[in-house]
Formats: sequence, C-alpha cells, structure tokens
Amino acid sequence: MTPREVAALLAYVVGLDPRLALDDQAAAEDRLAQWCDLLSDVPAQAHGWDAARTAREHIASSPYRIQPSDVSRPWFAHRADVMRRHVGTFEPTEHPEIDPDDETGDAFVAALRAERLAVAAGRQAPVTHRALTSGPAAAEVERRLAALGDYMPKTVRDLLAAHRPHRAARERLAAANLPDVLDVPCTWCLAPQGEPCRGRRINPGNHAIAYRARKDPHPCRVEDAAAHYARRQEQETAA
Ligand SMILES: [Zn+2]
Repeated sequence: MTPREVAALLAYVVGLDPRLALDDQAAAEDRLAQWCDLLSDVPAQAHGWDAARTAREHIASSPYRIQPSDVSRPWFAHRADVMRRHVGTFEPTEHPEIDPDDETGDAFVAALRAERLAVAAGRQAPVTHRALTSGPAAAEVERRLAALGDYMPKTVRDLLAAHRPHRAARERLAAANLPDVLDVPCTWCLAPQGEPCRGRRINPGNHAIAYRARKDPHPCRVEDAAAHYARRQEQETAA
C-alpha cells in the first residue's frame, strides 16, 4: 500500500472504531509511519483481496484494537492460499514473446516466473484448472482408459476408430474426463453397462422382436451417467 492508501485505510478504521482516534498530531504521524512501514508489501486491493474489508471484518469480530498485523497476516495467508491453488500453466498464445524454437527455454521460464509474481502480488487471478498430466484428474483418466482395456497400439486404434464409433467415443470421453453414458446401465431399455441403448423392432410378418443399437442413449441414462460422474468427481476430490 502506498502511504496515501494507508492513510485512507487508517481514516476508515478510525471511523469504524472511535477508540483509535488520536488527539495528538505527533502520535498520529508516528502511527501512520508505522502502518506505512508494516503494510508496504500488502496491496490495498488485489484479486479476491480488499485490505479495507479485512480491517472491517477484524473490527466487527474482535474486541482488540486493530493492528497493522491484523491486515498483513490475512494478506499473507490469502497469498499463500492463492499460490497453492495456482497451477503455473498458461496459454502459449498469450505469450507471443516466447519463441517456440528457443531451445534454452529462458523466455518460457521468465514468463512463468513473471506470471507467478503477478499472481503472488494479486495483480493476476490464479490459474486453477488442473492440467490432465498430473494429479487426481490425470489418475482418473488413467483409470478409465485402463478400464476400457488397451490391447492395440494407439496408431491402429486411431485407424479403426471410424469403424468402432462407440469405442472411439468412449475413449475420447475418458481422455477428456467427461461423463460417459456407457458407464451406467440404462433403466429404460435395460441395456447393461458398456452396451449402447437399444430400440425394439417388431417384425410385422411374424411379430418376432428384434433389438437394434440406438445411435443416441435414452435421456434417463444420460442423467444417470451425469449423476454417476458427479459422484465419482466428488469421491476424487474427497480422496
Ligand atoms: Zn436405453
């Protein structure tokens, strides 16, 4: 905070808690200097942070007169929390200064560092999505792909994908970690888990019943799969 911002914050807290008012001009200046010193590396406002709101919360909830540390400590806790959630990945398209052919990687490291500093200072929101290369989400993708079985090289699989639309669609969903209707049985047509929904066709000649695979799953199965997926995501986050 700049001295100006600290002075504004002090005026605000004195307004909220009149016990903080000082009659003595010299004492007020000393206090301003002390607060400026202790809050020099705390921003007035940042992503998800407002020093005035923090001060107000302290005054509203604590019987003790507010100290600079009642603002700086929450800031450092907030910053640590943000950095814990920040995954440190960014869109290369947003960094045209990085030459993709630069083998040293210096520009990339510099950009990552600059981004971390910007997030730490609250100038930039943290990137909290999880890349699917590590962590529980990636483990989940591995688990689902393993459950689907892998008995042929990926190149062959890709060639065959056009001839195996259901299988290819399931693999795509698993790789993107999205709900898959074939993970649950269908309560409408009773298609078991792993098999597509089916429609009934009655032969008008002999009234024989035949089943054919439907291209689209029954809506209730889509709902069940979404609920199943949500439950599993919850377990993943809880684990
Ligand atoms: Zn069905």
